Amino acid sequence: MVPRTIYQIPSTMYPQAFTKMKPIVVDASAIINSFNLLNFGQKFITTPAVLDEVRGKKRNEKIRLALDLDSVEQRLAKNEFIEKVRLAAKQTNDMLSKQDEELIALALEHNAEIATDDYGIQNVAAKIGLVIIAVGEKGIKEILEWQHYCPACWKNYPTSGVCGVCGTPLKRKVRQTSGLLPSSFHSEAKK
Ligand SMILES: [Zn+2]
Repeated sequence: MVPRTIYQIPSTMYPQAFTKMKPIVVDASAIINSFNLLNFGQKFITTPAVLDEVRGKKRNEKIRLALDLDSVEQRLAKNEFIEKVRLAAKQTNDMLSKQDEELIALALEHNAEIATDDYGIQNVAAKIGLVIIAVGEKGIKEILEWQHYCPACWKNYPTSGVCGVCGTPLKRKVRQTSGLLPSSFHSEAKK
């Protein structure tokens, strides 16, 4: 599938930036990096695991308020969508946590955009064709497919870990790229 757009939006623009009002799946990085969860009319979705993670952080007042106001929905991802995410992650060779897989699966299921600073999540989400909102850092420029390899004996591996021959920790290199993704929201806004 052809990847969609990557938005790169300064935090001061968050409330104004979303006019289409598609739901937005937020990961812990998006919540912690001051993503505005109280944006009127905007629906946010995340997993119970992410909320557990961010409750202990400094922004917990805002998160509690957002939960009280029902602007953030907690959802569990359905297995059929998790399977699609795993398939895409297998193609790009990204090592995602269970939580990462669930977030991308939620975005897929709810036709949502996904807000994260995690390059692995962005990479797999873009591979599936989701719209990404890059928070904190700049977003990915292209979809990368990785190859894991041993830097000592050059054996290739399908996943990360240590070399089965010599025990050296594996590294990874880009095997293939998609070419540049469509231009970002931010650069379009400057025209
Ligand atoms: Zn080796």
